[in-house]
Amino acid sequence: MENTTSKVVIITGASSGIGEATAKLLAKQGAKIVLAARREDRLQAIVNDIKQEGGEAVYFTTDVTSQQDTQELAQFALKQYGRIDVLVNNAGVMPVSRLNELRVEEWEHMIDVNIKGVLYGIAAVLPAMREQQNGHIINVSSVAGHSVSPTSAVYSATKFAVRAISEGLRQEESPTSNIRSTIISPGITDSELINTVKSPEVQAMASHFSSLSISPYRIAGAIAYAIHEPEDTGINEIVIRPTAQSM
Ligand code: NDP
Repeated sequence: MENTTSKVVIITGASSGIGEATAKLLAKQGAKIVLAARREDRLQAIVNDIKQEGGEAVYFTTDVTSQQDTQELAQFALKQYGRIDVLVNNAGVMPVSRLNELRVEEWEHMIDVNIKGVLYGIAAVLPAMREQQNGHIINVSSVAGHSVSPTSAVYSATKFAVRAISEGLRQEESPTSNIRSTIISPGITDSELINTVKSPEVQAMASHFSSLSISPYRIAGAIAYAIHEPEDTGINEIVIRPTAQSM
């Protein structure tokens, strides 16, 4: 395992769930964490928790649907720590529903956060990583980025897109600029994501799914593994789901 002590890691969607767990785990392992999300009170509380445990962390309030916010996040990290070693593009929303419910605003919101947010994150860190000739971009997709089911059409489309973008990034950057690319595809994980569902039909099924969920620290562990592998090794994709989850 490579020592991450010197690594500067930006995590989007760090105010709850998988992002929060990843921030806390990596900080415990010695990384310097830059947490990003919209809810400042949550970010502040998590930074306090990390510092109380002896870790190093700062936060920058960020809406990933704003390219300006995302650029400012990267500039903040560079000013704070002088480099960016890892970006975990984790922020996401999942207001799933059947297409015939015509929740067009929710479709647009998923595209804005889950696809454009990921692209803005890449745009914000890629120049610094190319200059360093080193870096690692980890994009959080989903098992729904591997298969489609009723109600998941748009969410799955965004998560398929995340995988396509990550693979393109890998092919373009890894051989020339030494920038690694990892896709993390979780299954049902205990977090606040279900709160983004507004469709009554899907809400009615939510408790069944929640009963299967695994801890967000399992996903954090997979992210940490990809980061810790030696620089000559790219962990390009990990699918991690509850043992009892069939799809
Ligand atoms: P949570 O809802 O707990 O976390 C989502 C995070 O995204 C929050 O920190 C939220 O912070 C942030 N976020 C949402 N919108 C924005 C925005 N516009 N700008 C910045 N941050 C934003 O859910 P998870 O931890 O489960 O989700 C993390 C990722 O994992 C997502 O990409 C999700 O699609 C993916 N995933 C989750 C699965 C699960 O079962 N939980 C399964 C497969 C994939 P804030 O509201 O403060 O901005």
